[in-house]
Amino acid sequence: MLKIKNLKAGIGDKEILKGISLEVKPGEIHAIMGPNGSGKSTLASVLAGRETYEVTGGSVYFNDQNLLDLAPEERAREGIFLAFQYPVEIPGVSSTVFLKTALNEVRKHKGLEPLDAVEFLKLLKEKMKFVEIDKALLSRSLNEGFSGGEKKRNEIFQMALLDPKLAILDETDSGLDIDALKLVANGVNKLRNKDNAFIVITHYQRLLEYIVPDFVHVLHQGKIVRSGTKELALELEEKGYDWLKDEVLADP
Ligand code: ADP
Ligand code: MG
Ligand code: MG
Repeated sequence: MLKIKNLKAGIGDKEILKGISLEVKPGEIHAIMGPNGSGKSTLASVLAGRETYEVTGGSVYFNDQNLLDLAPEERAREGIFLAFQYPVEIPGVSSTVFLKTALNEVRKHKGLEPLDAVEFLKLLKEKMKFVEIDKALLSRSLNEGFSGGEKKRNEIFQMALLDPKLAILDETDSGLDIDALKLVANGVNKLRNKDNAFIVITHYQRLLEYIVPDFVHVLHQGKIVRSGTKELALELEEKGYDWLKDEVLADP
């Protein structure tokens, strides 16, 4: 599904991603862990097509399509969901209108008819139930300001509605409480199936108590320095990230 080969990217003269290779197959959940500043969010941003970062080498293929050639909206239409790509702050547009447009674009791309207002409302209700989202939350204007937990709820709801092939979740907010973490995990666990895949980026092992990944990768200074199964996450929990320093010293 996703094939990243020797991906290099940075800002100006600063190289941040220094050769990342990663393959994600349908049905898999990959966790990307690593200390602060290792490049996790940069990787997510590059996959989303954020223009802040310049790709300087390597390739990214998504279902045999060169992802790096596609604009961010096109990537979304192809079935990639990035939590932060659907902003929770757009002045003047209520989230339902916004989501209907986004969903119908995805449908159009799949060769499906757009949903009319009634059909969309029906789907909306179904998905609201699915993620146990509050109606009040949904009808609120996007620029009204959401708490961390509300943002997560909204994010998972958007993911459920758009039903992506590949979802990339960057759990940057270390301030999330256990309820919010469980919410994210529940969403992922309910939505996962043999045809879709998830990349869950997280600094803390905590989240992985609720989402059991098939693979865990450790990012350090722009490189994947270790890959393993869920046991690797437990090992990291125990050892922290300090051992990475020794590793870098041993292999400069
Ligand atoms: P992580 O998500 O693992 O904490 P980031 O991808 O946010 O790491 O950052 C990786 C490195 O790239 C850090 O050294 C950070 O300072 C740098 N970096 C990220 N974004 C920018 C930016 N917009 N401008 C300058 N440096 C950046
Ligand atoms: Mg960071
Ligand atoms: Mg980050």
